[in-house]
Amino acid sequence: MDSLINTNEKKCLEALIPRGLIGSGHAVLGAHLTAEGLCPVRLGWKGERITSIEMISEQSISDLKLLLPRLIEPHAHIDKAFTWGEVPNLKGGYQEALHANLQELQNRTIESVYSRAERSLKLACRNGIRALRSHVDSFGFVADQTWEALVSVRDDWKQFVELQLVALVPLEYWSTDQGKMLALSVAKAGGLLGGVLVPPFDRKASKSSLLKLLKIANQLGCGIDLHIDESEIEPAEGLKLLINVLDQIEINVPITCSHSSSMGLLPLGKMRRLADSLAHHRVNVIALPLTNFWLLGRQSRRISGKRPFAPIAELQQAGVTVAIGGDNVQDPWFPAGNFDPVSLMSITMSIAQLAPWQRLGLAPFTTSASALMELEWDGMIQIGGPADFVWLDASSWSEALATSPGRKVMAQGKWVDENMFVTDESKVQFD
Ligand SMILES: [Zn+2]
Repeated sequence: MDSLINTNEKKCLEALIPRGLIGSGHAVLGAHLTAEGLCPVRLGWKGERITSIEMISEQSISDLKLLLPRLIEPHAHIDKAFTWGEVPNLKGGYQEALHANLQELQNRTIESVYSRAERSLKLACRNGIRALRSHVDSFGFVADQTWEALVSVRDDWKQFVELQLVALVPLEYWSTDQGKMLALSVAKAGGLLGGVLVPPFDRKASKSSLLKLLKIANQLGCGIDLHIDESEIEPAEGLKLLINVLDQIEINVPITCSHSSSMGLLPLGKMRRLADSLAHHRVNVIALPLTNFWLLGRQSRRISGKRPFAPIAELQQAGVTVAIGGDNVQDPWFPAGNFDPVSLMSITMSIAQLAPWQRLGLAPFTTSASALMELEWDGMIQIGGPADFVWLDASSWSEALATSPGRKVMAQGKWVDENMFVTDESKVQFD
């Protein structure tokens, strides 16, 4: 039997789904699982919603493919994606990347932002991403127009990919008059406030800037997402400063710390205490393995095995919500990347020793990423939930992670390809 069954009355497919992502547990009670915890099910849907989940017998699972909920990219930079060709950073360091970024920013046009954003979302959607958070360079003369362009792209794409935008500026910018104006327009556009807190920094001045940013965000009801401690020096100084400020004021908006890389260099006791403080203040973390392992620790790697990277396991153990993102795509900060969440899982598996067949290994790409971005759908596959899937041409996790697999993407109960919704569903089948 074909694993995809489409008739007028009935739309369903048979696939292997990670047991931990099936929300309607009673439907698969006692089901046979593969060694990697995959559960063979027949999934039915009508319109945009899942209508049935039935377990299928062990005898008929040999040809089934892996099916996941559509995935999430919690940290990207679509305004500068694909600029490596214009401003390559062949030395690969952080400072060189920043220099090249600023150089490109001087010549950035609205047309280029628009086309990079469109290209990014098209690729992301095709690769199985349903929601993407992008930081946006928001200072300089193109800032207003950039926001206008990206808000328009966001609206055009909302059926396929939910786009969240974060204004990325130097931290002290939020204390200036232009910064306050920017905050108002970001709030109006439903965006988040961002910034960079990377050592070495003036502790007193940075504390004052951070306090001002938090107060503005609180007043306007905007979430915060910072680039923090993306560094190999002064481990976790940015996070410590943030905790110090949070001990002093009450905050009602979600706070996310992207990178938090140098926290991984702290001695274990200090790392655990800091993780507890982050959990206490409900601060989320997005780990970004690709750029951290490429840009940071270029000197010390020759003499030390320790590389700056967020300590995912310790953070999870303390109760911090941790997601994993791809960060830069083919720009001066990182020459590779392709908005492919399955490739990201594959690379992260060895960097962070995270296995997707374990609940805490899969959550940073699925349920935790959804919670962190406050998405409406938690990412569980359940009856009544969205018929939104990415169906991989792979019969096990090992096969899916070995090379980036081919895939079929379904959004709102309809198959999607490079031309968006597919009209001839008979073509949706693996060879
Ligand atoms: Zn970033």
